[in-house]
Amino acid sequence: MTLPSIPLSGVIGDPIAHSKSPKLHGYWLRKYGLNGQYVPLEVETDDLANVLKAMPRMGFVGCNVTLPHKERALHCVDQITDRATLIGAVNTIIFRNDGTSLGDNTDGYGFIENLRQGAPNWLADTGPAVVLGAGGAARAVIASLLDAGVAEIFLTNRTRARSEQLREDFGARVIIVDWVQAGNVLEKAATLVNTTSLGMIGKPELRVPLDGLQKNTVVTDLVYTPIQTPLLAKASSKGCTTVDGLGMLLHQAVPGFERWFGRRPVVDDETRQAIQ
Ligand code: NAP
Repeated sequence: MTLPSIPLSGVIGDPIAHSKSPKLHGYWLRKYGLNGQYVPLEVETDDLANVLKAMPRMGFVGCNVTLPHKERALHCVDQITDRATLIGAVNTIIFRNDGTSLGDNTDGYGFIENLRQGAPNWLADTGPAVVLGAGGAARAVIASLLDAGVAEIFLTNRTRARSEQLREDFGARVIIVDWVQAGNVLEKAATLVNTTSLGMIGKPELRVPLDGLQKNTVVTDLVYTPIQTPLLAKASSKGCTTVDGLGMLLHQAVPGFERWFGRRPVVDDETRQAIQ
């Protein structure tokens, strides 16, 4: 008698011990009583291509990719989705039955789903968005805000050249604002997103002046350690609707889990509790 094979997935990064993904996928596998395993895999950059090539032969149906491999992974898969191409990074890989691999990026999807869940009245066409930061995560945020129908994005970053690159890639709906002027555009914002690492435990604080922030602005932070960042606390005290960054991490995991293990998981309060 042949035993049914156990679908394997995991997250590849370096380092990887801090990743919450194994806990999250493990929780969903148990919750839905599914056959499967999800493991953390510490892989050095030079080994990434070979590891990805070997995984399907070891029973892996896919994997997540995290820092520092998200960009390099673009070049290690057979096919790339449009959204991964636009974002310029891969965070989810599917190994198909025919032996080929598909690289996807679900960060933008996770960002928008989290925003819609945390601020159910949020509408893309209410007004401009202000995005703080122009790193890797900002690319996913900008792609998803534009795709959702936000007409204008005021983008501000300490290193101006990175904002300019994003404007070149995403077009004239992205308007660059000097980092030192960031506080001056806040009163126009229907949505404010912090994509910098500022405010995270162990990092400097976000010093953008928030005096101009209006109470009808929806404010969200990608930083989720702490969950209630100083930005969210200040915005909340001004009456703004706030959405924390933990939900983005949870929502970005949904498409991969569904594809690998055959069930679409629900992101709810219990899921949040399970991984904290
Ligand atoms: P990244 O590519 O390294 O970008 C870092 C960003 O932070 C850049 O815009 C950088 O500006 C800015 N920054 C860093 N130190 C600064 C300082 N002292 N002053 C001003 N700006 C500073 O990182 P990333 O991948 O985009 O990630 C950014 C944050 O988002 C991290 O905290 C990450 O944990 C979080 N994140 C959360 C999720 C989620 O699921 N919630 C997903 C992805 C990322 P410069 O360009 O000037 O260096």
